[in-house]
Amino acid sequence: MYENFDAIVIGCGFSGATAARCLAEKGKKVLILEKRDHIAGNMYDFIDENGILTHKYGPHIFHTNNKTVFEFLKRFTDFMPYEHRVIGRIDGQYVPIPFNFESADRLFGKEKSAKIKEALKKEYGDREKVTVNELLEGQGEIRKIGEFVFEKVFLHYTAKQWGMPPEKVDKSVLSRVPVVLGYDDRYFQDTYQYMPKDGYTKLFENMLRHENITVKTNVDALSLIHADAQSGKVTIGDEVYEKPIIWTAPADELFGCVFGRLPYRSLYLKIEHINKTWFQPAAVVNYPNEEDFTRITEFKYLTGQRIEGKTTIMKEYPMQYDPNAEKGNIPYYPIVGQENQALYDKYAELAGKIGNLYLCGRLAQYRYFNMDAAVAEALKLAERIS
Ligand code: UDP
Repeated sequence: MYENFDAIVIGCGFSGATAARCLAEKGKKVLILEKRDHIAGNMYDFIDENGILTHKYGPHIFHTNNKTVFEFLKRFTDFMPYEHRVIGRIDGQYVPIPFNFESADRLFGKEKSAKIKEALKKEYGDREKVTVNELLEGQGEIRKIGEFVFEKVFLHYTAKQWGMPPEKVDKSVLSRVPVVLGYDDRYFQDTYQYMPKDGYTKLFENMLRHENITVKTNVDALSLIHADAQSGKVTIGDEVYEKPIIWTAPADELFGCVFGRLPYRSLYLKIEHINKTWFQPAAVVNYPNEEDFTRITEFKYLTGQRIEGKTTIMKEYPMQYDPNAEKGNIPYYPIVGQENQALYDKYAELAGKIGNLYLCGRLAQYRYFNMDAAVAEALKLAERIS
């Protein structure tokens, strides 16, 4: 049966679905194999017992500067404007994160804050944001501000999230969350900040509704597919498959983890239903310090739903990924860094020996892609595949 398809895609998250859709539009018959019992990967959302659209695998907030990506996704759903705001619980107060001038005002009081803002403006002029590492590399007052922000916002959150001291965490990870030199209190500064009006699952349903796309859920591709770098061939079932195969699952698993497992970071996501109209003052409240969870999301803020007397929240408890564990068995985050990259490169090299095999996406490319970057990569890949 597999030879009836012009391409096979493993995994039905943004990478797999985007690649499949583009190939389908080029006239190729595409088969998607998905291990879970649903589409949409970690973007999967559903209406819960409170009637609230809930993101099963943690909050996914869309933002991009990439017009092509946004135009592509707009074809499959209406988007509603949504600017994400995060508040941090720091020293018993709620303050904006990214750390901004308002955060300084609240934590330091008028006079001291004025001095801090002055020093930052003097050092960085008209710049809108800097990284905490830049502050830490600064001198005098700037360094002191850096140390404060690092200690209160990044140090403990990062240690919890990654299970290692922050100095071991790649700098690019901390740079995702800047220090804002002004009063802009949005979490993202991108041009396009929207949420899919009817949720991500609906977006995926529309994207996958195409006469050339067949989706099979509950299929563990690992039990079917054998990739052999030596012969340069992939077999599916008993057949050698010579047409494009796009793999969006972890790259090591495809090769039986022969060089050892690629580490990922996982989460235990605890959903709670609460009989109150609102639980917290913002969509996400970060708990950088005392608690053992990192953040709480209240989904109604993301969806704009108006439901009285009920709300749904999710707490995130970071943990090491272990495919065999009861909790923490989903590989959410690649752990960026030289050593892991070197290990990944070995798997990528094996994959490179198989001419019709393509690794695509956050897991398969071992890159900390946001949703828009995953879509952009898949668009590029589909373009390359003739
Ligand atoms: N981070 C932090 N404190 C915060 C928010 C983020 O230390 O209050 C650090 C932490 O290391 C985290 C990284 O910045 O892993 C990236 O944060 P982001 O919100 O982008 O993470 P994601 O939403 O992808 O989990």
